[in-house]
Amino acid sequence: MKLATFSVAGSQRLGLVDGDRVTSLSDRIAAMPKDMIGLIAAWGELSRKVEGTTPAGDYKLSEVRLLAPVPRPGKVLGIGLNYADHIAEAGMKRPEHQLWFAKAVTAVSGPFDPIQRPVVSTALDYEAELVFVVGKRCHHVPVERAHEAIFGYCAGNDVSIRDWQMRTGQFTLGKSFDTHAPFGPFIVTPDEIDPRNLGIRTFVNGEKRQDSNTKHLIFDCAAQAAHLSQVMTLEPGDVMFTGTPGGVGMAMKPPRFLKAGDRVRVEIDGIGAIESVVEDETLPSSPF
Ligand code: ZN
Repeated sequence: MKLATFSVAGSQRLGLVDGDRVTSLSDRIAAMPKDMIGLIAAWGELSRKVEGTTPAGDYKLSEVRLLAPVPRPGKVLGIGLNYADHIAEAGMKRPEHQLWFAKAVTAVSGPFDPIQRPVVSTALDYEAELVFVVGKRCHHVPVERAHEAIFGYCAGNDVSIRDWQMRTGQFTLGKSFDTHAPFGPFIVTPDEIDPRNLGIRTFVNGEKRQDSNTKHLIFDCAAQAAHLSQVMTLEPGDVMFTGTPGGVGMAMKPPRFLKAGDRVRVEIDGIGAIESVVEDETLPSSPF
């Protein structure tokens, strides 16, 4: 099943995607929660109604605006150095422990929305990543049951500002600029894919820059969820970026950063693609 958050004529809806069309669940199911977090939290009661919805294909996907499947998650985290080839190109050592950083929830943006190159840096880079969305509130979930905590998967771009990321001991600021956490295009439920074997690629202006497979993840999604849940309660709709393979712009010689007009596409087999055009941030006329 593919579940989307979309807007049409300015109103936000939840939808079931079938091919190139989407069926509005918000218009069909009585007492449908208003957003994806609500739907995920009520999945125990609502899953049969959603599964029983006949795809009517209310809208073409091209006629609606797809939003981030979870437009305002409770938390967004990313794991660093989780593919061997990316560790090698970064000149780092394979970490003994999972290396996590936060991405501000205000960085979330839609799967086809623009990425901003900020006023304060030109070191704008892409990172293709499998994203998982938490399905169940959990704490101290054992690794052998951690798959039960995952609601579904998306394609994501862990957009990074390299100078801000690297000039202190903490990655968080360099990972948290507005528009730098696009993901989608919808949530694909685990019955449709094997997250441990999915081709993952990035194209910049049509040129293939990253080409790998999630089977090369050092810590897989279950290991990630189990590890995080030792620290914090995971909640429905939390979003986790699971690491990027080799081929980022920073590692090229010389580095090739993104600039206005560049088109960045991240695609994952069985999930789909997100695509963003880079635009220069403009300073607001007033900070408030
Ligand atoms: Zn990343």
